[in-house]
Amino acid sequence: MISAKSYAAQTPETDLAPWDFERREVGPHDIQFDILYCGVCHSDLHQIKNDWFPGIFPMVPGHEIVGRVVKVGDHVKNFKVGDLAGTGCMVDSCQVCENCKQDLEQYCLEGNTQTYNSMERDGSRPTYGGYSNTIVVREEFVLHISEDVDLAATAPLLCAGITTYSPLRHWGVGKGHKLAVLGLGGLGHMGVKFGVAFGAEVTVLSTSANKEEDAKKLGAHHFVITKDAEQMKAAAGTFDFILDTVSAEHDMDAYLKLLRTNGVMMCVGVPSKPYSIQPFSLLGGRKSVAGSGIGGIKETQEMLDFCAANNIVSDIEMIDIKDITAAYERMVKGDVRYRFVIDMATL
Ligand code: NAP
Ligand code: ZN
Repeated sequence: MISAKSYAAQTPETDLAPWDFERREVGPHDIQFDILYCGVCHSDLHQIKNDWFPGIFPMVPGHEIVGRVVKVGDHVKNFKVGDLAGTGCMVDSCQVCENCKQDLEQYCLEGNTQTYNSMERDGSRPTYGGYSNTIVVREEFVLHISEDVDLAATAPLLCAGITTYSPLRHWGVGKGHKLAVLGLGGLGHMGVKFGVAFGAEVTVLSTSANKEEDAKKLGAHHFVITKDAEQMKAAAGTFDFILDTVSAEHDMDAYLKLLRTNGVMMCVGVPSKPYSIQPFSLLGGRKSVAGSGIGGIKETQEMLDFCAANNIVSDIEMIDIKDITAAYERMVKGDVRYRFVIDMATL
């Protein structure tokens, strides 16, 4: 076994604290890489707090992981020691079902294996995430990272990046479309960058009036303060798509009003309570509410290559791992500009 250090939650009630544990040995198809940076996703907080379902504890969160390869198994073909490597939200899947065969491992019919808060494929032990010094992942779930990019600012692409890139690509959002991004946090700010890069006219819908200047700097063309009834009224019936990245309960009917006829609300945020939607909000204007989960490995690599070619990274605030609880507190208040990234040298 490989000794590893981490910050872990021992229970949903306790703050993260140092914890030593063991990772599996590097198998023939595995890659071990030492973690340099790990992004802080709102999903980390949802999961350590049992917001969605009872988690597996101790829990080492973190699924926006970048680092350098230190060991490869005998059968590993595409990585060598010294290469940069990245891992997102998944570390395994069945690889043979209809969805896996179509590069949609995130929708594996047997369930994908999540990077943490999941069980290894053989059921032997839990998976542990990226708030850690090193990780072992099967080769198929390790991404290539360019040597030319800002590594820390690239880490959030592994989740926030692919989660917004994938639905925008799936629904063909681009030139001629009016896209609204609901919630300007980690996912939202990447949604703005991709929407702009794909040629859409982008509006940020935000509860935080003080984010307007940032939204414009990110490339957004318009900004609507969702708490302002007049601004919401003026925006009614204007968007082809809304990318909903909100992490908490919110009034879906109010936002569905903003869609044009045939408009699509693409939900990527995962509040802990079910959505409540008035049927009239959908049938008046033949509107759709759809969901999207991260992206497959092939698409994640495509997104990373697209970002490297187009100088797209995340806007980050680097933190020491000891400050993780304070970062979570700020994230809950919507005070994130726009992704915390942990410098793993501070572990
Ligand atoms: P985040 O950085 O905290 O951003 C969420 C933003 O939502 C906030 O900054 C805030 O933006 C807005 N917001 C918060 N509470 C709100 C409320 N009550 N009403 C309206 N807006 C509110 O979180 P994140 O890391 O981007 O994650 C967002 C959500 O996506 C989380 O639920 C996360 O679990 C989920 N997620 C899903 C996937 C997937 O595969 N689908 C992947 C990753 C994450 P403003 O200040 O602009 O209002
Ligand atoms: Zn995430």
